[in-house]
Amino acid sequence: MREPPSNRHSSRGARGTNRVDPVRKVAEISALAILVIELAVILGRISTSIDGWRDVVWMVPAAFLGVLLTDFISGVVHWLCDTFGDETTPILGRHLIAPFREHHRAPGAMTQHGMLRVNHNNCVGIVIVLGVCLWLDGPEPDGPVFGYTFLLAFACAVYLTNTIHRWAHQSQPPAVARWLQRLGLAITAAHHARHHVAGRGSYCITTGWLNPLLDRSQVLLVLERAGGRRRRAGGRRPMRRIDD
Ligand SMILES: [Zn+2]
Ligand SMILES: [Zn+2]
Repeated sequence: MREPPSNRHSSRGARGTNRVDPVRKVAEISALAILVIELAVILGRISTSIDGWRDVVWMVPAAFLGVLLTDFISGVVHWLCDTFGDETTPILGRHLIAPFREHHRAPGAMTQHGMLRVNHNNCVGIVIVLGVCLWLDGPEPDGPVFGYTFLLAFACAVYLTNTIHRWAHQSQPPAVARWLQRLGLAITAAHHARHHVAGRGSYCITTGWLNPLLDRSQVLLVLERAGGRRRRAGGRRPMRRIDD
């Protein structure tokens, strides 16, 4: 299979961005540690809440919906960051929009970063969401298995979204990535290349399940026009075609 265009710039832009900042490293490790604790708490609540096979069966659609929601959110956030604002936008510009813009200028750069760094923003976001959910659930949990499973799948998928995205840019992703891609549980390089070739569309970067629906309905394009602003990610340069 030909390498997608997004893999051809694997080192451009990566140089000079891999210096280890000890403060950032501590923040990345701390966020992941908190996430692991939160996931363990949810797993514990699932195990104590299961009451027969019926609950076990309902865990399957719950997990599916959790991953589906993640795919949708990945697409909406990606679209917003590619389309509106720029690196100088207050609050969100530096931490949320800039990585997406950098990714279009140097798509392969993310393959040079470690897992902690690639997933850190998503890790912080999902740690906050789980923290709020667990706090609302209270110390004496009595939630349904369906809800806990949904939350567990959602959290895992959110955390792994950028790892999955990175796999789509690697010329030789690990065996587990290729297995998940074959099962349709992780977006493939060929699927994701559509976004980088066109510079728009196919914004979902977890499984890509919702890309056909969002692209055909053109709902995001309609919202862009309603918003009255359009900025193509990575500037206004056209993306290289896959067969250039
Ligand atoms: Zn993009
Ligand atoms: Zn990409």
